Amino acid sequence: MQLDFSGKVALVTGAASGIGEAVARQLAASGAQVVVADLDRNAAEQVASSIGTPARARQLDVSDPDAVRQLVEATVAEYGGLHLAVNNAGIGGASLATADYPLEEWHRVLGVNLHGVFHSMKYEIAAMLANGGGAIVNMASILGSNGWAGSSAYVAAKHALVGMTKTAALEYSARGLRINAVGPGFIDTPLLAGMDRTAYDGLVALHPAGRLGTAQEVAALTCFLLSDQASFITGSYHLVDGGFSAR
Ligand code: NAD
Repeated sequence: MQLDFSGKVALVTGAASGIGEAVARQLAASGAQVVVADLDRNAAEQVASSIGTPARARQLDVSDPDAVRQLVEATVAEYGGLHLAVNNAGIGGASLATADYPLEEWHRVLGVNLHGVFHSMKYEIAAMLANGGGAIVNMASILGSNGWAGSSAYVAAKHALVGMTKTAALEYSARGLRINAVGPGFIDTPLLAGMDRTAYDGLVALHPAGRLGTAQEVAALTCFLLSDQASFITGSYHLVDGGFSAR
């Protein structure tokens, strides 16, 4: 399916790597102007320069609400509006059982994976309503609807993000703004780096498709949900998980 994002301005957080990078590339390839926002300034600049003119890199820490507000305002000032956003920046966090989970780490993971998405939606929604609407995708996970031992903070953030997505959709869908969440299974990106072969094979075994997903497969669903082809889809949570959740 050929998507057309000509004339649209898109903001993608965590766009310097993995899923966010694949989304930024697919949006730009379909005609959007893309703000490649990431904590890692150098990596964001590399991705934006390899995409070319439709992309610009911006350094951003989504856990800082003022930084998010400033970036959204600067995007509107520079491009004349904001139409599409993918709130994708996320971290894995420590792997420790709940009673052993350090408080500092709990706040760090929620600061990026949950508060970061709230900060982003808060300012993106205001900017999009000023244009008469738009579309937002929040990057959840299969762990937005399943537990995972050792990842209480990550799982809590992703479940909350799904609820936040549904709530914002109830609030804004009548005003031309569609808001959805995507739930990837385990995807072969740098987020899984450092995993040994046995652990990797263990993850593969959980996916009936017999492999992990690719960032491009998640980007394809995300871009479809952002497009006018998905005009009646809002407030829902869409899996791209190789059958993980069908068990
Ligand atoms: P990744 O590590 O390849 O990319 C994440 C990007 O986010 C990095 O470029 C990083 O610099 C950036 N980032 C981290 N903290 C940030 C912050 N505070 N502000 C702005 N940018 C920040 O990871 P990925 O696998 O592409 O994951 C992207 C999203 O997809 C995450 O939300 C993750 O939870 C979700 N997800 C990933 C998988 C998977 O298996 N890889 C599965 C389900 C969901």
